[in-house]
Amino acid sequence: AMRRLASLDDVRFGPDGLVPAVAVDEATGQVLMLAYMNRSALEATLRTGRATYFSRSRQSLWVKGETSGNRQDVRDVLLDCDGDAVLLVVEQHGQGACHLGEWSCFHRTFPVAVEPLPTGPAAAPEGGGVPTAAVLDALRSVIRQRHQDPQPGSYTASLLERGIDAPLKKLAEEAGEVILAAKDVDRLRSGGAGTQTAGGPEEARTARPGELARAYDALAWEAADLLYHLLVTLEAAGLPSEAVWRELARRRQKGGSH
Ligand code: AMP
Ligand code: ZN
Ligand code: ZN
Ligand code: ZN
Repeated sequence: AMRRLASLDDVRFGPDGLVPAVAVDEATGQVLMLAYMNRSALEATLRTGRATYFSRSRQSLWVKGETSGNRQDVRDVLLDCDGDAVLLVVEQHGQGACHLGEWSCFHRTFPVAVEPLPTGPAAAPEGGGVPTAAVLDALRSVIRQRHQDPQPGSYTASLLERGIDAPLKKLAEEAGEVILAAKDVDRLRSGGAGTQTAGGPEEARTARPGELARAYDALAWEAADLLYHLLVTLEAAGLPSEAVWRELARRRQKGGSH
C-alpha cells in the first residue's frame, strides 16, 4: 500500500483538542492500548521517539512508562484516512502497556455468541476463506472465558478446575497421538518403503484410495487436540499466549536458526 507523509496540520483534533491514539506491539501487531494526544503530546512523541500522551484525568502530558518503566519506543506513527485517529507502532518495554499489569489493556472479553468450532478435522470454514493462526487467539479467549466463568458441562472448565496436572496429562497424551498420526502419514506417503514400521514388511504396500487423505485428517485432528491442550496448559499456568507469539516473532526478527 502507498504511504504518504502526514503533517501535524493533517490531524483533526477534537473539540477538546485531543485525538485518540492506538498503540500496537511491533512484534505481534497486538493492540496494546488506547489513549489520547493533544498537539504537543504528538509533537513530543515525534521529537523524542517515546510515546507521550495527554492524560484526561490529570490534564497534563504523560510520557508512557515515566513512573512504571513500561515505556514505549515508537517505531512508526500513522494517521488514518480522515485524520481523526493516530496509530503508534511501538516496542513495548517492561511488564506491558496496561497499568494493571497486563501486556495489553484489552484483556477483558465479553461473552459473544460464537459459531461452534468445526466438529470434524476436515470441516470447511462456513463463511468461506481459510482460517489462519488467528483462530488460536479466538480459541484462547474462549478458554479464558471458561476459566473465569466455568459453565457446568464445559470440558475446558473441568480441565482447569483440577489444577495444572489435568491439562498436562492430556498434553502428553495428545503429543503421543500426534506422533502416531504423523508416522501413519509418513508410512503411507512413502508407500511403506524405507520406513521402519512396527508391522514389518506386510505394511510395505501401496495405500488404498482415500487412506492417505484419512491419515492427514487424523493428523490434523490430533494436532488440533495438541494445540488446544497446549493453550489450556498456558491458561492453567497463567502465561498469556501473546508471550509465545512474541517469542516466535522475536526469533523470526533475529533471523535465528529456528
Ligand atoms: P506509566 O505511564 O506506565 O508510568 O503509568 C503512569 C500512570 O498512567 C498510571 O498510574 C495510570 O494512571 C496511567 N496509565 C498508564 N498506562 C495506562 C494505560 N495503558 N491506560 C490508562 N492509563 C494508564
Ligand atoms: Zn479510509
Ligand atoms: Zn478516522
Ligand atoms: Zn490498561
